[in-house]
Amino acid sequence: MKTPVTDTPDRSVAHDGAAALPPAPPSPAALPAPYAPPAPPAPSAGTRPSGAPRSRHRTLTVPLFLAVTGLLSLVCASYAACRRALRRLTPHEKRVARLGATVRRRAGERAGLLCTGSGAGVRAALRTSSPTCAARPVRLGLDAVLRLDTERRVVRVEPGVTMGRLVRHLARRGWTLPVAPGPDSATVGGLTMGCGVDAASHRYGLFADTVESYDVLLGTGEVVRVSATEHPDLFHALPWSRGSLGFVVAVELRVVPARPWVEVRYHPVAGPEEMCRDLTRLAEAADGPAFVEGFVHGPGEGVVVTAEFADRPRGRRNHVRRWYKPSFRAHARARARTGAVEYVPLGHYHRRHGRGLLGHPRHAVAQEALVPAHHLEDLVRHCRQVFEEADGLWVRPARLTRGATPGLVGPGPEVGAGQRQLFMDVAVLAGAPGRARRGALRDAEDAARRFAAWVNARQGFQAVPHAPSGPARDEHRSMFDCWLYDRVRHAYGAEGVFVDAYDRAASR
Ligand SMILES: Cc1cc2nc3c(=O)[nH]c(=O)nc-3n(C[C@H](O)[C@H](O)[C@H](O)COP(=O)(O)OP(=O)(O)OC[C@H]3O[C@@H](n4cnc5c(N)ncnc54)[C@H](O)[C@@H]3O)c2cc1C
Repeated sequence: MKTPVTDTPDRSVAHDGAAALPPAPPSPAALPAPYAPPAPPAPSAGTRPSGAPRSRHRTLTVPLFLAVTGLLSLVCASYAACRRALRRLTPHEKRVARLGATVRRRAGERAGLLCTGSGAGVRAALRTSSPTCAARPVRLGLDAVLRLDTERRVVRVEPGVTMGRLVRHLARRGWTLPVAPGPDSATVGGLTMGCGVDAASHRYGLFADTVESYDVLLGTGEVVRVSATEHPDLFHALPWSRGSLGFVVAVELRVVPARPWVEVRYHPVAGPEEMCRDLTRLAEAADGPAFVEGFVHGPGEGVVVTAEFADRPRGRRNHVRRWYKPSFRAHARARARTGAVEYVPLGHYHRRHGRGLLGHPRHAVAQEALVPAHHLEDLVRHCRQVFEEADGLWVRPARLTRGATPGLVGPGPEVGAGQRQLFMDVAVLAGAPGRARRGALRDAEDAARRFAAWVNARQGFQAVPHAPSGPARDEHRSMFDCWLYDRVRHAYGAEGVFVDAYDRAASR
C-alpha cells in the first residue's frame, strides 16, 4: 500500500537524521474563531508591499541600538576613568575635593556666608558679649603634615596643623621654623590668616612672611596655587584676611636647619621707658640676638629676654616646658633678679608659652596691637591707663615690609616698596577668660574701643579679633589697607560666599 503524500511535512521526523523539529502550529483555518490572528491591514495606496514596514523598523532599530550601546559604553568608560583618577588622588587631594564639593553645595544654598569652623585653635580676644557674625562655619578637617622638602627648604602642611605638632615634627628631623608663634594649639591657618608675631619677627617678619605658597579653595570651588609669582595679588592680600578670600587648604612654609639648644639671657629693666629703648636697639642691631621679647610686670618692673641658638649647653640647663615648671613669663621675672644665663632645648624654647603666659592654657589676651616702634613708649603708657587692672604686657619687635602691592597690614605709604619698618607688638594680658568675662577688667569694651582708636590714629593694627563693641566697620577699614583686598575679593569670587574680614574679626 502506498503511503499518502501530504503537503505538510512531518516535522517530528528529521529528514537528514538531525534533531526533531517542534510540531508546526495549527493553520489559522483550523483554530476556533476567537483565537484566529487579526487579518493584516489592507495595504493602502503608496505603501510598500507586504514585509516593507518590518524592514523599515529594522533600519531604525539597528542605529538606535548602536547609539544606546555606544552611549552606555561611553558612560561606563568615563565612570571607570573617574574612579581610576579618584583612586590616584592622594588622601590630601581627596579631602580637598570633598571640601570643595561642600563649599560649592553650601554656597549654592545661598543660606548665608561661610567662615572656617573652629579648629584646635585658641580664643585670644576678650569676649564680654556674644559674637555678632552670623556666618555658617565649615569644618575644614585638614590637619596633616604633608611633606618636608629639605632641598627647597620648605614644609608643606594642611592649615589645621598646630604649632606644637609642627615644631616637634620638624625638630625630630633637624629642622625648625624661622618664625614659630602662638601657643601649642594655634594653627598654621589661624596664624597666617590672623596675627603671627614671634620673638624672631624682628628678623623674619610675621609668620605669613615665611610662607612660600598657599593652595586656596576659592568661592567657585576651584583650588589655585598662590605664591609671589602665581596669582600674586591674592598672595599679598591673604595675610590677616581671616578666611574672607577663600579657604587655605595647604601651606608651604620655609624651614631652617635647627640647632639643638638656645642660650637664653634675662635682662632686668627699670620700667617701660628702658624696656622700649632696649628692645628697639636690640631689634635694629645688625648683630642683634636671634630672639627678643619683653614683659612689663608693673610700673617700675620689666624684663627683656634675648636668646641665641647654641650647639651644646655650656651652663645651667632648663627644660622650661616640663609639667612642673612655672609659666615662662613668671620664670623670666624670677631669673631677671639673678641675671642668670641658661640653656633651653630648642623644642622647649619654641613652645615656652605653650601653657599660656599666666600659667593658664586658655588665658585671655585682652588686646593686642602692632604699632610703629617709635610709639611703643606711648602705647605702654596708654595700655596701663585704659587696662588698669591688666596683669601685664608682652612686647615683641616685628619688621613689616611694604610690598609692591600692599596687603591689609604693612608700613604706611611714606615707606617705599620693598622697604621694612620696625613695629612693636604689644599684648595686654588679662588673666583667665573666666575672670575677664566676670568683668574683672572694668569697662572692658569701652577700653577696647579707646585702645582701637588710639592704635588706628598711629597707623597701627589691632591684632586680635575685636570685642563686639570694638571699632566700627569704617574704623576697621581705615586701620587696614583694603585697596588690594577689595579688588581681590571681587575678582576671585569671594563676595557672596565668604564672610567679610571685618565681620569675621568682630565674631571671634
Ligand atoms: C596664650 C596665647 C598665646 C598667644 N601667642 C601668640 C603669639 O605668640 N603670636 C601670635 O601671633 N598670636 C598669639 N596668640 C593669638 C593667637 O595665636 C591668634 O589668635 C591666632 O590667630 C589663633 O589661631 P587659631 O589657630 O586659633 O585660629 P582661628 O582663631 O581658628 O583662626 C584665626 C583666623 O584665621 C582664619 N583661618 C583659620 N584657618 C583658616 C584657613 N584654613 N583658611 C582661611 N582662613 C583661616 C579664621 O577664619 C580666623 O578668622 C596667642 C594667644 C594666646 C591665647
